[in-house]
Amino acid sequence: MGTAKSRDLLHSLTQRLLDDIRGSTGLDASVAVVEQQDIYDVILVMAGSGTGFRVLQSLLDEDRGEQVLVAMADDLSEPVMEQVLDMAGVEVARLWPKCPRHDHALDPKLNGGRASWCCDFDKTVAVPVGELARRLWERRPSIIEPT
Ligand SMILES: [Zn+2]
Repeated sequence: MGTAKSRDLLHSLTQRLLDDIRGSTGLDASVAVVEQQDIYDVILVMAGSGTGFRVLQSLLDEDRGEQVLVAMADDLSEPVMEQVLDMAGVEVARLWPKCPRHDHALDPKLNGGRASWCCDFDKTVAVPVGELARRLWERRPSIIEPT
């Protein structure tokens, strides 16, 4: 079974990704975690459908959470983009999450050891996962305005 350490770390990682998804799109997203022997299945739920991402518990126990988060953000970006596509159209969806400097989407990568949304062209654009909405808020409001 999962250790308390890996469970706590996974919770904080999924929360950071959720904060970014909710904060930058306005989507009503949530996460469910199904624990099996030495793996966790993280299920991102949006608009009634779920997408899974599998995490090895050992990676969390070895403090490789930031790498896990890069892979999780990369994989789960796809269903987020599909939701954004439905809500806001292809021009907005292909730019999620939008680079503050250019007309393209940021990619999740390790930056200084932290999972971050990075620009391929400008190395100074690297927003830690979990801070997307706060950092980009002034430049770009949520796709869906809060009601
Ligand atoms: Zn850029």
